[in-house]
Amino acid sequence: MATRTARPASAVGTDPGITPVGALPGVGPALAASLARLGLERVQDLWFHLPLRYEDKTRITAIADLRVGERAQVEGVVEAVERGFRYRPQLKVAIGDASRQTLLLRFFHFNRAQAEQLLPGTRLLCYGEVRHGAQGLEMVHPNYQRLSGDVAAAVDELLSPVYPTTEGLGTKRLAGVIGKALALLPPAAQLELIPPELCARHGLTSLRDALLYVHRPPPDAHLGQLMLGQHPAQQRLAFEELLTQHLSLKRMRAALRRRHAPKLEGSGALRQPLLAGLPFRLTAAQQRVSREVERDLARSRPMLRLVQGDVGSGKTVVAALAALAAVESGHQVALMAPTELLAEQHLHNFRHWLQPLGVEVEWLAGKVTGKARKQALARVAEGAPVVVGTHALMQEGVAFARLGLVIVDEQHRFGVQQRLALRDKGKDGEMVPHQLVLTATPIPRTLAMSAYADLDVSSIDELPPGRTPVQTIAISNARRIEVIERIHAACGEGRQVYWVCTLIEESEQLRAQAAEVAHAELSAALAGFKVGLIHGRMKPKEKQAVMDAFKSGALAVLVATTVIEVGVDVPNASLMVIENSERLGLAQLHQLRGRVGRGAVASNCVLLYQPPLGQLARERLQVMRDTNDGFRIAEKDLELRGPGEVLGTRQTGQLSFRIADLTRDAHLLPAVQQVGEHMLAEHPRQTGQLIERWIGGAARYAHA
Ligand code: ADP
Ligand code: MG
Repeated sequence: MATRTARPASAVGTDPGITPVGALPGVGPALAASLARLGLERVQDLWFHLPLRYEDKTRITAIADLRVGERAQVEGVVEAVERGFRYRPQLKVAIGDASRQTLLLRFFHFNRAQAEQLLPGTRLLCYGEVRHGAQGLEMVHPNYQRLSGDVAAAVDELLSPVYPTTEGLGTKRLAGVIGKALALLPPAAQLELIPPELCARHGLTSLRDALLYVHRPPPDAHLGQLMLGQHPAQQRLAFEELLTQHLSLKRMRAALRRRHAPKLEGSGALRQPLLAGLPFRLTAAQQRVSREVERDLARSRPMLRLVQGDVGSGKTVVAALAALAAVESGHQVALMAPTELLAEQHLHNFRHWLQPLGVEVEWLAGKVTGKARKQALARVAEGAPVVVGTHALMQEGVAFARLGLVIVDEQHRFGVQQRLALRDKGKDGEMVPHQLVLTATPIPRTLAMSAYADLDVSSIDELPPGRTPVQTIAISNARRIEVIERIHAACGEGRQVYWVCTLIEESEQLRAQAAEVAHAELSAALAGFKVGLIHGRMKPKEKQAVMDAFKSGALAVLVATTVIEVGVDVPNASLMVIENSERLGLAQLHQLRGRVGRGAVASNCVLLYQPPLGQLARERLQVMRDTNDGFRIAEKDLELRGPGEVLGTRQTGQLSFRIADLTRDAHLLPAVQQVGEHMLAEHPRQTGQLIERWIGGAARYAHA
């Protein structure tokens, strides 16, 4: 410790940004370790560690003026204290102020010393979120300090930034270190990495000023604007962050372009008989996209292509054609799907199409274990031509002999990392396999420009002929009996019906139970018709047997959980009822609805909802009634829910920005793209520095 404090100021080098945080005064090894856990290793990491939100402790609010949901600072005197143990220990402290109202402070975690200090008559200054409690307004675990005697409470002069932090590192301490780092900010011109002419052209203000502003908003700052992320300083930073993301993806793309991939030209010897044997002709869109894919595969540069097409547009056959091009060229193909049911459907389709051509299809999912797994792995290692499976394909121990093409269905459920992991299975020196990504969720333009900047995109923008659009209606659950009568009538006409149970937050077990209850209800109500049940807790064989029975028409009704969301294909099913539809996102509803409307008969979708409907839910259901166009639905979904949800990346954390928000900041994207092109072409050094600055050590992208 002594050596550290004695360290001369020159420990901070000429480029303060890349100096280790340990060189800052007062930052010892323990603090440096906490900072490292947040990815904060160099001084510039601290500059760009931006506040999540702000607390306004510049004024005191009278208890009478508190509003539920808001965060506020209150000064009051303890009137009563109660310690309860009913469900778990808790400490309740009632405070009152000059407005003659009472506020309850509630603590679930507290120590004895703390409890002993909070005696009636103690003056407190506290800050927290105001909630509705059983006994009126309350704050749970507010920050507080005791005020001594009758000294007036000292309020802050500035808004306090709240930083993302980690256990053992308090916000105040972190803010202190960031303050020290900010003292080392170089002059504006030196900090700027976007060339001045581009800043001027796009009206970008000083980065230095923007950083200082967001870290320390002045007393007259507009809190509302700051909270919404719409202050020009925040927009300046959001611009730079979006730019960096864009540049990083483009670079990854360029790095991939420099790699080699096997040329998969093929002879057509397998594709021709496949096409000849299909009971339909490819649509013009399928033909065009297939040609685009074939052209890519025939090159010695790795393909990275996204094929987007609405549900039912016929992506599977396009994937099968690509697979055969690889097999014709003597290479292996891996097809990965996000759920077992979908993977099984692909297995089924591929075996149906490829086995008659003498092409074997291997199966690798989590449930394939023991001897079967060993044998499958051995065949894959020896060069089995086609392997279909789930994420089990990426696990250790899976090795390919000559992997030439990786096909990933429903990409948005996998993160970029997972996609890369599978691709790396085929890495052989500088050789990497081609990648084809299929998605039914059309990527709105704004996202295509950012999140997917590393992919080429082909669209199957046409449905096979003879499809009739699905008529959709929303019906209150109060009219459930009528809906069941309607199902009865439909079954009488020989139609097949899906009944989808949707419990979202709960466990797979609870979902299965809900489906069992609905199954019992419908079985009783639909005497004379067979009702089947499928859910995620069933074994693959059982699921397949139920699907086969439904496909063959032996079952009139299929009660299902959302396991049927993707890929399930039964053309004769023409009525779908979705329970609790108000709780699902638009993209998911559209996916589900896509299971009907696959044949020539008119199809219907009934969205059952639990009244009363909120405004947002009402809007969502209205969109579903208004359109069958997946593209419009995706745009609307983005608008109503934000991109994390649309992309399904909440779990993978793939698109986590510090300050940018793709929905709020979409208007910046055209300029981001223009500046990006310029920088990639003419300012490679600054491009690298920007990536280093914003993504830094976490830039796994950069090494892809
Ligand atoms: P998705 O794009 O949703 O994956 P699928 O590939 O599952 O769609 O195709 C949906 C259905 O349409 C399947 O039954 C498939 O055999 C059929 N199909 C695909 N292409 C055509 C076509 N050109 N004409 C008629 N039916 C087609
Ligand atoms: Mg599909």
